[in-house]
Parts: sequence; structure tokens; C-alpha cells
Amino acid sequence: MKKKNILFIILVISIVLSIIMAIDLINPSGIKRFTLGDRITVWLITLIVYLMHKSNTSKPQLVPSVLSNDKANNKENDKPNISFKDVAGLEEIKEELQETIDFINNSSKYIRMGAHIPKGILFYGPPGTGKTLLAKAVAGETNSTFLYASGSEFVEKYVGVGAKRVRTLFEKAKKEAPSIIFIDEIDAIGSKRNLESNNEKDQTLNQLLVEMDGFNTNETVVVIGATNRLDLLDEALLRPGRFDRHIYVGNPNMKAREQILKVHTRNKPLDKDVNIKELAKKTHGLSGADLANIANEAAIIAVRHNSNRISSEHFNMAIERVLAGLQIKNPTVLEKEKKTVSIHEAGHAIVAKVLNMDKVQKISIVPRGHALGYVLKFPEEDRYLLTEKELLNKISILLAGRAAEEIIFNEVTTGAKDDLDKATKIAREMVCDYGMSDLGLMVINENFLKFNYDILNEEINKILEKAYEKAKRIVEENLDLLHKISNILMEKESIEEDELEGIFKEYEKATDFAS
Ligand code: ATP
Repeated sequence: MKKKNILFIILVISIVLSIIMAIDLINPSGIKRFTLGDRITVWLITLIVYLMHKSNTSKPQLVPSVLSNDKANNKENDKPNISFKDVAGLEEIKEELQETIDFINNSSKYIRMGAHIPKGILFYGPPGTGKTLLAKAVAGETNSTFLYASGSEFVEKYVGVGAKRVRTLFEKAKKEAPSIIFIDEIDAIGSKRNLESNNEKDQTLNQLLVEMDGFNTNETVVVIGATNRLDLLDEALLRPGRFDRHIYVGNPNMKAREQILKVHTRNKPLDKDVNIKELAKKTHGLSGADLANIANEAAIIAVRHNSNRISSEHFNMAIERVLAGLQIKNPTVLEKEKKTVSIHEAGHAIVAKVLNMDKVQKISIVPRGHALGYVLKFPEEDRYLLTEKELLNKISILLAGRAAEEIIFNEVTTGAKDDLDKATKIAREMVCDYGMSDLGLMVINENFLKFNYDILNEEINKILEKAYEKAKRIVEENLDLLHKISNILMEKESIEEDELEGIFKEYEKATDFAS
């Protein structure tokens, strides 16, 4: 029994005794069964036990919340009933994890051979790509206890508290082996140590290293860490014997998106017109979490529309909701501003079409999220390598809205803020990471930046200017088309893919330009 529970039982007994003694004291018959010494002793014990119980229940939490949570003591809850069937795509990763699973399920086979269980696996990659899901599936496939902790739970003001939490977590894992410890956002405790590091964080990281080194070879405890920033982690954490298996979990490709959408729609009533393959095409660049969100949003929209089934229209609305944000009801946009937005969005659409980079799915000037208008577009196929010309084209498309504003109104607005951010990011990567500037092949690091910031800015600006000039040239050569699209937007507020294709066809001149 836990110390806390024993104290509670003693407290209850001593309170009952104290009450009996108090009643005895005021007994009208005058017969006293207890002496003054008995009473003082019992009351004192009651007071001491009460104080001990109070301090025991209110002391600072020294274990991760998941471990102190009563639910966590329930073994059923610690064993996820998630398997690899629930993880769509990511086939190579599942294959790689198969060995670890076999090790846990048939550990004696490996121990006989003198093999060590892989202690630490590190998943890294963008958010929402299924890292937690994979870790849970490993626990599910091996019927292991799943212990979840977030790196930030170990970050404390008081020296030693984080380290104690790490110790407690590993103690529980060993007690309940086979078990999987999953530490999300491991960079919160595992980032590189330096002279300015804080003592508490270093102690916590050291404790984690000690615990990982301290496993016996026959202890079936696997630690899985997850981070969005592998580059931030301390070398010591990554060396063999610790997190030595690094697995990149990236955004899903078209086929994986299709499989993820299938997993998340398998319990939903879908209309016959829903084409999952088409939906996978339209959701380029989205993570598994985004796709799960779209499936859920589509179901909610169907309920809102009193439909029995989820239709492709509901999915389109859900995609728009996730990609462009919440539609603003009754927006108070001035007529003049609407005109500017329609020109801006028409500019994006025309340059995207002419440069033949992306398929435009929809243009809209209905405000959503913080945007007054948007162009929904996606590449026809997944691309893993982009040429210098294609990157420049991407920047031209991003800057086309501003270019159109400048050409038509002879002035520019604040509407291009997000576009400028994205364009600058690409241009910066071209200079610093891809060797696509006059600075040559070298990768630009922090040291270079300290002393040559102006040179870097000059190169980035050269790229942005070049792409902007190209966008302006395309818009200027297609002014009729620009006005036509802008006028339709002013009238109908949005243009869908098919209608847009029809408009483009009338303007052969523009579509020919792509060569
Ligand atoms: P973060 O880095 O933000 O912690 P993560 O990579 O751990 O994110 P998860 O929490 O595993 O992401 O994924 C969030 C949700 O997205 C899952 O619960 C699941 O619904 C869905 N999801 C992500 N990837 C997949 C996948 N490959 N198959 C099925 N569902 C997925």
C-alpha cells in the first residue's frame, strides 16, 4: 500500500478516537473513561498525522504528470490498443521498427545471441506527422506499457526536480517492463549544453544519460524521443548506446495522404462522389494531423448541413477551412479594398498559371483567418527536388499579388506581408543552403552572418528583385486577363477551378507564355 494511503487510514482512526475522547470529556454523567494523558497523546498524534498527510499530498510534484495521475496507475490505460494498422503510410519506418518489436516480443532469442536491445530511437521531423502515433503503435504491437512524458515537464526552476522526475519515470518503466518511454519535445531537456547552460537543465539531461546507460541488457525498456529540431540536440544524447537510431518522419506523399485519409474516414459514412485520391492531390504539403483534422471537419460540416453522408463538397469546405482559416462572417471590407484584393489574387493566379508550377483550385476574396483573399493551389505531383528556376518561379508567384497592385494602382498595400515573408524565406535558403547565388557554393553559417550580413542581404534582394521583375512582366503582358478575373471576383467573390480553366483557355496568349 502507498505511504499516502497508510497515513490517511491512521488519520481517520485517530480522528475517530479524538472525537470519542472529546465526547467522553463532556459526558454529563461525569464518569471519565480516559485520563488527561491519554487525551493529550491521541490529540497530538492526530495533529502530527494530519500535518504529515497534508505535506505528503501538497508537496511539489516530483514525477511527470502522467505518472502521478491516478489514471496512469491503471495498467489498461497505459497499454494503447493502437497498432501499425492505424498508422497509414510510413512503410519504411514501420519496417525499421519491426526489429525493435521483435526484440521486445522475443527478447530471449536475442539475449541468447548476446545482442542488446536498441535502447533509444529518435523520431524527428515536422509537427503532426505521426511520431507519437508510431511510438504508441510500437507499444500496442508489443503489448508494452506506454509512458508518455513531454520534455517541458522536466524543465523546472528548482535544481534537482527535473532529474528526480527522470529517475521516477525510468523506475516505473523498469517495474512495468516491457515498456516504451516516449519523451515528446525532447529538445526541451536535450538541447546542446554550453557555458551559458542552466544548472537544472544540465542535471536533468545528465540524469537522462545516466538512466539510458544504466539499463541491463535484458531489460525490455525502449526509450523513444521525438523532436522537430534534431540539430538542437546534444551530441551526448545521440551517441551509440543512447538515441542512436534516428528516424525522419516527414510530411506524407500523395500515396501516403490517400492512405491516411482512408484510415480517418473508415468509420465515416461517405457519399459516392467522394474521391479520396483527388482529396489526396488537393492536400499537398499537409501533415497527417492536418488530414485527420480535415476528415473530422468534413464530418462536422455534414452534420451542420443536416446530411446523412459526407460529400465531396463537405471535404472541399473542410480543406479550405484548414488551408485558409475560418471564414469571416459579415466582413466589413471597403469596396476599394475588395478591388485591391481582387487584383492582388488575380495576379497570383495568372502568374501561377503562366509559370505552370501549380494547379489553381480556387480564387476567393472572401476573408478567411487573417487573409482578405486567397488562391488555393497545389502542385500536380509530389516533388522532392526543385531546380533554381523553379524556386525563382515560386518566388515570382508569391510576389505576383504585389506586382499586380503596383501595376494597377501605382502604389502597394500591406496585403503582401505573408507573401513577402515566404518569398524571403525561399530566397534566403537559396543563398545560404543551396549555393544558388553569387556567393558561390559555400553554406552560409552563423559565423559568416556575424560579419557579412550586408553581403547576404544584397544577394537575397537580388533574387527577390529578379523574381519580382518576372512577375511584373507576366502581369503586364496579361492585363486584360487580370481585369477579367478581378471583375468576376468582384461580382461573385470566388472562382472555382473549372471556370478558371475556361477563362484561361480564352486567353491563349497567356497560357503560351509558359514556354
Ligand atoms: P508533434 O511533433 O506535434 O508532437 P507528432 O508527429 O507526434 O506531432 P502525432 O501526434 O503522432 O504527431 O499525430 C497527430 C495525429 O495525426 C494523430 O493522432 C493521427 O490522428 C494523425 N496522423 C498523423 N500521421 C498519421 C499517419 N501516418 N496515419 C494515421 N494518422 C496519422
